[in-house]
This record gives sequence, C-alpha cells and structure tokens, in this order.
Amino acid sequence: MLVNLLRDLAATLDLPAPRPEKPGSACPGLLRIVPALDGGICRVKLAGGVLSSQQARAIAEAAERCASGVLELTNRSNLQIRGVLPGQQAELIERLLAAGLGPSSPAADDIRNLLLSPAAGLDSHALLDTRPLTSALLDLLQSTPALHGLSAKFAIQLDGGEALAMLEHPHDIWLSALPGTPARLAFGLAGCPTDKPLGVVDIGQAVPLVEQLLRLFLDLAGNEHSRMRQLLSVIPAHQLLQQLQTRLPFALQAVPLSWQRTSIHPHPALGIYPQQQAGLCMVAASSRLGRINAAQLRALTELAEQYGDASLRLTPWQGLLLPNIPEPSADKLLHTLAELGLLIDAQEPLSNLIACTGSAACAKGLADSKADALRLAERLRTSTARPHVHLSACPRSCAAAHTAPFTLLASSAGHYQLYQRTREAAGFGQLLASAMTIDEAGDWFAAHCATGNSNA
Ligand code: SF4
Repeated sequence: MLVNLLRDLAATLDLPAPRPEKPGSACPGLLRIVPALDGGICRVKLAGGVLSSQQARAIAEAAERCASGVLELTNRSNLQIRGVLPGQQAELIERLLAAGLGPSSPAADDIRNLLLSPAAGLDSHALLDTRPLTSALLDLLQSTPALHGLSAKFAIQLDGGEALAMLEHPHDIWLSALPGTPARLAFGLAGCPTDKPLGVVDIGQAVPLVEQLLRLFLDLAGNEHSRMRQLLSVIPAHQLLQQLQTRLPFALQAVPLSWQRTSIHPHPALGIYPQQQAGLCMVAASSRLGRINAAQLRALTELAEQYGDASLRLTPWQGLLLPNIPEPSADKLLHTLAELGLLIDAQEPLSNLIACTGSAACAKGLADSKADALRLAERLRTSTARPHVHLSACPRSCAAAHTAPFTLLASSAGHYQLYQRTREAAGFGQLLASAMTIDEAGDWFAAHCATGNSNA
C-alpha cells in the first residue's frame, strides 16, 4: 500500500511517519499521498489559507521536481499538488516539511481544517480579527492527541463578519463574531453562520467551547458518525447542548434575537477590495477551474513580493488574494494577474463555473467535467447568460462543498442531468433535465439565464 511505502521512506529519511489511513478514507494529506489516474495527490493544509512567498516558491519547485507541476486550489483554501511521480513521494514530503508546511505532529495533519475569510484582519467590514483565535484553535487541534481521531473531513469555520466570506459551505462547527464589545461569538453545528445559532460565548471562552464540543462529539459518535450532521440525526441539538453545558465552567449565553449574519459579497472574490488599513487594498483573482501551474505560482510569489507583503492567501472560491497592496498599484497588479492567466472578471463565463477532476484523472468520473466546463464557457460566451454552474462527474461532488445554483451531474460520457437549487429539494435541487449534452446545456442557460431573465 502506498501509505506503507511512504512510511518506510519517511523512516529512511527520518521524516515523521504518515498518519494511518482510516478505513474508507481516501483524503490526501501532506503525509498521505493518494493515487489518482494522473499520479499521486498531496494536499497541503494552510493555516488560515496563508502562504509566504518562500513557501509558495518551495511548493512550485517541489511540484515541478517531484510531480507534474499542476496545482489545485481547493474550496477550503488549501492547495493540492497533482501528478506526484512514482519514487518522488518522500522527496516531495521532505521539501514541504522543510518549508514549514507540515503539521506540528504527524497525527495532526488531517485535522487542520479551519476556514476563515481570506480577508481576515484586513476586511473593512470585519467585526473581529480572527487570526489570534485561529492560531489558538489550530494549536488546540494539533497538540491534543485525543482530538486526532476526528475525520479528515471534520471542519470548523471561524467568521469575523468580513464582507469577503464564504457563507455557503456547511461546517461541522461554526463560530461567527457578533457586533459590539466585549467581543462575543455565536456558534452553531452542521451548518453556516447564516443559520440560526445555538448559543453565544465570550471570545475568551471560544477555545474551551470548541475543545469540549469536539470531545463530546468523539465520546458520542459511533463509527458511522464521522460528521456532526450524522450525530445530530440521532441526538437532537438541544440535548447535545445540555450535555455540553455540563462540561463547561461557564454558562452558554442566549443568542440576541435581532442577530442574523448576512452575506455582503455572495460571489467569488474577484477584483480590488478596500482594507481597514489606510492606503492599502486586497487584489483577488480566480483560477481556471481550480487549477494553476507551478510557473504561475512562482510568478505570483514575485508579484506578492513586488507589490504586497510577500504573502498570498488562498480563497474558498478556488482563487488567490494578494493583501496589503498600495492602492495606486492595484489596477496594474490586477491586470498583471489577468496576463498570468487568472480570472479577474465575473463577466468571463469561466469565472462562474466549477468542475471536479472528472474522468481525465479520476477513476470514478463518468465524464470529462473539466473539458466539458471549458466547452460550456465557450458556448456561454456568445450569450449574456452567466450562470453559476457546478459540473460534477459523479455524485460525490468533490468540487463543491455547497449546492450551486445549477448542477450538471454526469450520467454518462458527454451527458449530464441538470439540477436547479431550490429551497424545497434536497441534494443538488430540482431535476430539470435528465440527459443533456454540454451544448444543449449551454443553449438552455442562454435561453433561461440571459440578462433580464428571472432565472439569471
Ligand atoms: S466528484 Fe466524482 S468524478 Fe469528480 S473528482 Fe470527485 S470522485 Fe472523481
């Protein structure tokens, strides 16, 4: 098994041993490279989605030397190296660890799943700078062996009230800043900050709250309950909350009746955004269907050093954001990002499409979803329709943690079912067509989602 091979190689090179693979888990990690049709996949989990330029350069070099040079930006603000070559896994891991991209202990690689806004600490709408609490929560996760049994998919969201925030991806635990002082956080389970919270804590109580929630989850969850929503299907939230309260040395507070987290920028971050810091701004762009190459990443590091603070932030919209850019330089930088091949305009049809790996590199794929997405974008270019569409080559929906407004789900090579998100229908939504070619789908969107149409 690949993980055993990796463990042997790691031992030879005096590297930390990879965490044992859980039955049924195919999630890649930095220390667990999983095979795909185009080679191994190595997932690098980034603290707060942030990469220094030195780390980004190290990734670009490692991806070219040990893999195909193809990089994926994930919807959790992480990064994946694709096409890892046979015999190169140990060197790749060694390079990434040397760049400071590994976990503080090998067993903690999988559980570093904490999403924040890519604009944390910078966004002019933010109620709270979430970065200090993020560090404390990541320390808790990594330094507490009892929590290392969590699923690699178990994830926490920490929302500071930023305008640039992903509020559609459900998380097992979410915390969201409330307005006012002293700083307080609403929290909820198996959902998003736009949902009804279960309670409120002071900011100083957030770490013990999360620790006790995680311990309670692990105590109650059976083998079949790897995610919070699964546990809540057998134990109602109010009962969980009662049990939680008995473990806490402070009282959970009631949720203010008037509070409701609303989305300020509901669409992918593209373009120039103001910062709290006078004279500075953030410049954001999107990748093409979640992928960039090592040469692009290297060019981005140079731009971050030339224009910004030598850091990059990955966004949950599979894009990148360069922070702390002097305002007079922002336009020039944005256009340089476009010249690099990144997307900077929501009117570009590809900006609104997401697609999983598909049959070109995933054995489960029924269709080449990335190639079909490119074809769909070309078809849409001749119309005013700019629909938000997720193309998925099988029902596992790897590319989207949320339900997109429209989903094209492959039923065979070149044919897709078309779904539209509705409040009433679960899953991908309401089935509108059971077998469309991509060209037929393009024509359908052109007819139903053109500017001025109520579906648009
Ligand atoms: S959604 Fe299915 S086909 Fe697409 S990458 Fe995931 S497992 Fe593969």
